[in-house]
Amino acid sequence: QVKAGARGSFAWYDEDADRQSRDRAEIASDLKHAVENHDIVPFFQPIVRIDSSELVGFEVLARWTHPTRGNVPPFVFIEIAEDSGLIGPLGMALLRKACIHAAAWPEELSISFNISPIQFREGALVENVQKVLKETGFKPSRLTIEITESSVIDDFEIARKKIDAFKALGIQIALDDFGTGYSSLACLRSLPFDRLKIDRSFVTDISEQRQSQQIVSGILSLASGLELDVTAEGIETADDLTYLQGLHCSLGQGYFFEKPVPAEQISWLLETEWSDNHVMSQPDVRAA
Ligand code: C2E
Ligand code: MG
Ligand code: MG
Ligand code: MG
Repeated sequence: QVKAGARGSFAWYDEDADRQSRDRAEIASDLKHAVENHDIVPFFQPIVRIDSSELVGFEVLARWTHPTRGNVPPFVFIEIAEDSGLIGPLGMALLRKACIHAAAWPEELSISFNISPIQFREGALVENVQKVLKETGFKPSRLTIEITESSVIDDFEIARKKIDAFKALGIQIALDDFGTGYSSLACLRSLPFDRLKIDRSFVTDISEQRQSQQIVSGILSLASGLELDVTAEGIETADDLTYLQGLHCSLGQGYFFEKPVPAEQISWLLETEWSDNHVMSQPDVRAA
């Protein structure tokens, strides 16, 4: 029978458990080559001001087009990279590429980069990130690191040291997928985050979900009390956007504005459609 995948988008069959583990082994060995050959590339999804649609930056999202399998979803290859010790090299190669692209874009645009739990625990993480910033000339103040609560939950004190080290460099820290974990609130109380990202499960279709409305409005007042910036993920329709405007949520991202796209397309859009102070034209509602 069909089982929903980890994030609901990848269906596995029970009788294929064997093939699944062979697939994993194969993907793991292909992944090593992909990292070495730079076949995994950063895509960029716009993050905008919800009240004005002004562009403020991008979330960097990894994309891998496998020669025979086609697109392998990041939740599959990131986990394999974590298990096989490749997440460090993969992450730093991606960050380097992202910084090289973004360094050529206007100063006021920042990038937000995901660090997975295993990668967050690496001893030299902060030094490695600092090295990439130095080598690429990308300003630390233009970088946000996104982590989830599973990165910090084991030991808040160790996590705090790392977060403080990033912040001392001028890098900002966001708590990703807020609301989906078990201890999101304990994380907020214990650690000095700059921003939280409301998980898209609370955002998509918000105008029709009374529970989501209450939860998001609660998160927003919590965030305002703690002086945290908020980004709503997964804005898919004009109705989602209108509802969030009513709640005065400050930042958002989602397919309604733009899917994650390659760097070349961002560069082109910055020179054409977004050249006017980087204000995104309102997307066509029919196309969304
Ligand atoms: P995330 O960090 O929560 O990233 C947001 C995910 O939501 C992305 O999926 C993005 O494409 C998707 N998304 C954005 N707007 C919408 C929308 O309007 N509707 C829907 N349905 N989805 C939307 P993606 O790119 O598949 O990435 C999935 C997860 O994989 C990420 O979740 C992140 O945890 C991880 N990931 C992706 N790239 C990297 C990376 O470079 N490093 C690490 N460590 N993890 C990564
Ligand atoms: Mg993220
Ligand atoms: Mg997220
Ligand atoms: Mg999410």
